[in-house]
Amino acid sequence: MKEFLNFINGQYVKSASGSTFENRNPVNGSLIGMIHEAGKPEVDAAVAAAKAALTGDWGRISVTERCKLLDAVALEINRRFDDFLQAEIADTGKPHHLASHVDIPRGAANFQIFIDTIKSASTESFNMTTPDGRTALSYGVRVPRGVIAVICPWNLPLLLMTWKVGPALACGNTVVVKPSEETPATATLLGEVMNAVGVPKGVYNVVHGFGPGSAGEFLTRHPDVNGITFTGETRTGEAIMKAAAEGIRPVSMELGGKNAAVVFADCDLKVTIDTLQRSCFENAGQVCLGTERVYVERPIYEQVVAALKERAEAMTPGEPFDPATRIGPVISKEHQVKVLSYYQKAREQGATVVTGGGVPDMPPHLKDGSWVQPTIWTGLPETASVITDEIFGPCCHISPFDSEEEVLGKVNANRYGLATAIFTQDIGRANRVAQRIHVGLTWINCWFLRDLRTSFGGSKASGIGREGGIHSFEFYTDLRNVMVKF
Ligand code: NAD
Repeated sequence: MKEFLNFINGQYVKSASGSTFENRNPVNGSLIGMIHEAGKPEVDAAVAAAKAALTGDWGRISVTERCKLLDAVALEINRRFDDFLQAEIADTGKPHHLASHVDIPRGAANFQIFIDTIKSASTESFNMTTPDGRTALSYGVRVPRGVIAVICPWNLPLLLMTWKVGPALACGNTVVVKPSEETPATATLLGEVMNAVGVPKGVYNVVHGFGPGSAGEFLTRHPDVNGITFTGETRTGEAIMKAAAEGIRPVSMELGGKNAAVVFADCDLKVTIDTLQRSCFENAGQVCLGTERVYVERPIYEQVVAALKERAEAMTPGEPFDPATRIGPVISKEHQVKVLSYYQKAREQGATVVTGGGVPDMPPHLKDGSWVQPTIWTGLPETASVITDEIFGPCCHISPFDSEEEVLGKVNANRYGLATAIFTQDIGRANRVAQRIHVGLTWINCWFLRDLRTSFGGSKASGIGREGGIHSFEFYTDLRNVMVKF
């Protein structure tokens, strides 16, 4: 039986209280292993180790040395690519082609990009003349913020965790990671990598458990945590902000979304449908940037509904290592119930179910997995729950529109503001509309394409702060000003 231990001060440790919980494979419901829950003593030990490491070797080495270590981390993840891949696939059930092209390579790349960024990061400097005719020079210095709590979701476990751990460590901080209770494996494995390449003890720590009354709450309430970076649901973000208010600790929040796609009649239809197929259904719809609302200009509305229906039906569910598999299960039975409850609500509220709407018929050995059908609805008013709420499943509602103003009003009416995709060949209109949509990220004629040097984050209820390139350093460093008169 596999065991997932906490990683504290360079060592794997069991739960002192003996509390463990199950890690199950969402493909067939089989037991992968037991996770050791961190109680208050383990969280205290992890934070203490992280605090001590700040003033140990880690705090003394140069940026160049730090970058060499992080480069070694990225190389070691790639050397152990298959171990990470197997671990991620077992926890999430996602298809092999997805995990091997996105999760693991991007997980390693997140260290590399922030090595490059920190090496070329500059700060401001100003010269001024003082009233007595002398000169004053002021300049900024960036210092690590300290111990960073990293709270992660389950949808892209390694990728989203290293998106935070990479810049945190590049800036000289130490971290205590709380992976999702659903996906403990890759964060645990990263501890082996840290030890193998010689990252000092206490720099990277992992505590397992849940949110309230467990590792998540103990960590975010800990007074020696100097900043909290969180990716997950907006409601959880609110709870974490309350915890962070005590001690005035800064937060970085990457939260939920209810992302729209806007399809104009002059779009390249092939590019649009190829992209929508991915943005609506990839990773079983469990991508924060995924599309759950599609607005199509009326002349091509029926055509888009028919084409996307065909693509949804081509998303063959199956085992991760079967090359025919296009879609995996959702993360857990609990999440399956949530997604299916929205499928039910859509029917009750009078939706036309274009395709899907339930659980696919799976072979006997996969029946206990958490499967849901890719689903498309039409015909609902903008107030319907499946148009207002984040579902985080492989589904979308498609509505027609007649004017730019009308579609902008509908897209912006939602409380979330994470991402949008616009499809049109009129470059002027694309840019005009992009600048009027209240989101942190807009794609034009593409989706999920990222240059990691650029800002990433949400507006409105989708987040606070921006990560990516130099923007990450706003959170992971404390900017100090020095003024000298001469
Ligand atoms: P979640 O909010 O349920 O859990 C995220 C993490 O928070 C888990 O590790 C959980 O144990 C922990 N947690 C829960 N309650 C806590 C508390 N009170 N204190 C401290 N920690 C607590 O989210 P999830 O279901 O794991 O992930 C899906 C959500 O994440 C979706 O809403 C999705 O949109 C969002 N997400 C956003 C982005 C983004 O970049 N904006 C990226 C990926 C996922």
